[in-house]
Amino acid sequence: MCEFCEFCQFLLLIEKKTARGVKRFCASKACGKPVTVINGPEDETSA
Ligand SMILES: [Zn+2]
Repeated sequence: MCEFCEFCQFLLLIEKKTARGVKRFCASKACGKPVTVINGPEDETSA
């Protein structure tokens, strides 16, 4: 699985635990934007 920042294409993401779960952020200090992972596990409510 190849993940990278969609803003600056930085190839390293860091994970931070939030109230809604783990989110990924760009590891670049010059960017640091939250990276949206489309294939996330938040879609468990589909019945
Ligand atoms: Zn970035």
